Amino acid sequence: MLVVMKAHASEEQVRAVCEKIELLGYRAHPIPGASRTAIGITGNKGALEPGTLEEMSGVQEVIAVTKPYKLVSRDVKEDDTCIRFSGSDGSFGGVDLGVIAGPCSIESREQAFTIAERVARAGARFFRGGAYKPRTSPYAFQGLGEEGLKIMAEIRDSFGLRIVTEAIDNESLELVAEYADVIQIGARNMQNFSLLKKAGRLRKPVMLKRGMAATLEEFLMAAEYILSEGNYEVILCERGVRTFADHTRNTLDLSIVPAVQRLSHLPIIVDPSHGTGKRNKVLPLSRAAVAVGADGLIVEVHHDPDRALSDGMQSIFPDQFDELMSEIRQIAAILKRNVQEPFLHPAAARASR
Ligand code: PEP
Ligand code: MN
Repeated sequence: MLVVMKAHASEEQVRAVCEKIELLGYRAHPIPGASRTAIGITGNKGALEPGTLEEMSGVQEVIAVTKPYKLVSRDVKEDDTCIRFSGSDGSFGGVDLGVIAGPCSIESREQAFTIAERVARAGARFFRGGAYKPRTSPYAFQGLGEEGLKIMAEIRDSFGLRIVTEAIDNESLELVAEYADVIQIGARNMQNFSLLKKAGRLRKPVMLKRGMAATLEEFLMAAEYILSEGNYEVILCERGVRTFADHTRNTLDLSIVPAVQRLSHLPIIVDPSHGTGKRNKVLPLSRAAVAVGADGLIVEVHHDPDRALSDGMQSIFPDQFDELMSEIRQIAAILKRNVQEPFLHPAAARASR
């Protein structure tokens, strides 16, 4: 159910409707839009009797949302969601594309700083790096844990980059939430419902990756878990799905970008690194992702990929990242989008003097 408020409804009227919904035993999700506020109702088992709400002052109409996902849907919020960060001009879902770049894993302070310096210099506003790694083999490098998070926090202070890093379970989520600006939930965890609910109770943006075999509806329902707990800042990420094709690690399904954008107000970005698994395919697929209308990219970059502790094969060199940024800048302009120019953070400027 969705309560659509009148264009000029006052804050008190919105509050009164929310209180009424909660009094009835449901959860109210006020969602301000460009022209009006809508209030999503969750927690009801079946259709609600709209009568009492319809009669309240400031209410335009009460409508049933027939789709299984509600809060992620454009029925509830027509305008695109733009996720911003205080003290940074990086964002997801606005005119500027959100570009996240960095190594697959944080391996050492030196490795992370070398790469961060280069991606910041190319114009990225977000730095990625795993401190907790979901690895196929239990014998593979599992990440530096909190030490990795601390290195990332130093990178934020030194370069002004916002930090994107993965929580792999309920335990790591608490620690990751202390350090990260964006909490990554990986493909293998897309349907870890207890993790999704826990992330939904945080007030920090979550980047949710599509599961390797998830349909569009399953993907949106996973995001719905997070929003239903009150966290409305979710960035969706297409990272490739399993198919019979074996020329790439996964098959990057770029068609999901316009499909998501039609149904949902949430930003959607593309991961051409895991999406292809091959360094030589990252640039072409990055160009294609921007051309198809993605709201950003997440790209693995490593200065010495042959020695990387994870995903070296798909990590591009810093010089290639420079090229990638210059190419997507030109493509974005055709779509009236923008890729930001490098920003020299005061601390980085001091260090380079
Ligand atoms: C990653 O980003 O390094 C990662 C493990 O991603 P995914 O969950 O898409 O495999
Ligand atoms: Mn990786």
